Amino acid sequence: MAQVAERSSRLQSLLSKRAAELPSKPRLDATQAANQISFTYGFPDPASLPADQVAEATVRALKDRGHEALQYGDAKGYSGLIDELTKKLNRDQGLEAGRDNVLLTAGGSQALALVLDALVDWGDTVITEEPTWMGAVRAFKNVGAQPVAVPVDDEGMNADALERELKRLKAEGIQPKLIYIIVNFQNPSGVTTSLERRKRIVALAQEYGTMILEDDAYYDLRYGGNFLPPLYALDDSGSVLYLGTFSKIMGAGMRIGWLVGPPELIMKLAILKIDGGTNVFGAHVAAEWMPEHLDAHIEKLRVIYHRRRDLMIDALARHMPDGVTWTTPDGGFFIWVTLPDSIDTEHLAAQAKESGVAILPGAQCFVSDQGKNTMRLSYSYANDDQIEPGIKILADVVKGDLLETAGK
Ligand code: PMP
Repeated sequence: MAQVAERSSRLQSLLSKRAAELPSKPRLDATQAANQISFTYGFPDPASLPADQVAEATVRALKDRGHEALQYGDAKGYSGLIDELTKKLNRDQGLEAGRDNVLLTAGGSQALALVLDALVDWGDTVITEEPTWMGAVRAFKNVGAQPVAVPVDDEGMNADALERELKRLKAEGIQPKLIYIIVNFQNPSGVTTSLERRKRIVALAQEYGTMILEDDAYYDLRYGGNFLPPLYALDDSGSVLYLGTFSKIMGAGMRIGWLVGPPELIMKLAILKIDGGTNVFGAHVAAEWMPEHLDAHIEKLRVIYHRRRDLMIDALARHMPDGVTWTTPDGGFFIWVTLPDSIDTEHLAAQAKESGVAILPGAQCFVSDQGKNTMRLSYSYANDDQIEPGIKILADVVKGDLLETAGK
């Protein structure tokens, strides 16, 4: 015991400032408790993961290009996959991009971390939507960024509030390094940024000389409304970096994502990322899998998540008491629920867990200390048969809480 204490105090004295401040557990716990209905994480539907197709693609990649797939690779990533990606991004997303514009990364998470590493010194300002993806909240902390929050409403990031913040920062002599935004079916709010807002946000970034990091992890998973052009496609000044990932459209275990941006910055990021090429093996497998399977797989996923969203929305309408409101996303994985002010969702989450349902307390998606009466519900991971019973249990816990707080 004494040895353990000694080791831990020695380690503590060696840790960097940023490591010393880390929480004691990792953000994601991939082990989902048995007998729990989990609405917590944005994990893809397990039954849909294309394991057999990926097994075949792996054999083909190894047979055809095994010596390349098992070797160190190009710093920017395997060019065969980059070529497949640029074709897809051009056709579906309307992005003009060639090999020099793309960097492969270990998921969108690493893409975000790299961009922050390249742009942000300790104490620098970044602008973010609020609420936002909890992984980004962590990533900002990791680099000591000072986040400035711009609220999200039902049309996405509030552009008037963004302009006010940009003006204020300029008056204070502060150059925000980037604007982080999730334009489609935002994690966690489910909201999509309207076309008018997209144009204004790009124009504001250009006017104030900052970069936009456009996180479009869910672009392909649209099952309502019209596809809208990414900010990257609306910009002609090299002010936008576009982030994507295979996590939601192939498999999160691939750990492959990408950044699209101006060649000078892409090159800087490639040099910063000293890993001998991201997941060379996986990139060869993905390049083999993509041409034959990606489109059909996306179609299949749209049907699954569309159905799950409808099941969850119906269940919320049936079971939640008055005073509880929620968003209806046009795609993606998440519904954002706002409860009466008297409810604290950290407390609610603990109670719901005892009843067998897991949720994400919304405060984890805020950079300020707000959002205590909000929660994110993901419908991607729980199966069809679990959604209605899970929401009923959750609604009963909410009703119990409301009765309790009314009695106080
Ligand atoms: N951005 C958003 C908005 C996300 O929701 C996620 C995953 N939850 C990511 C990026 C990163 O995912 P990955 O690292 O698996 O690509």
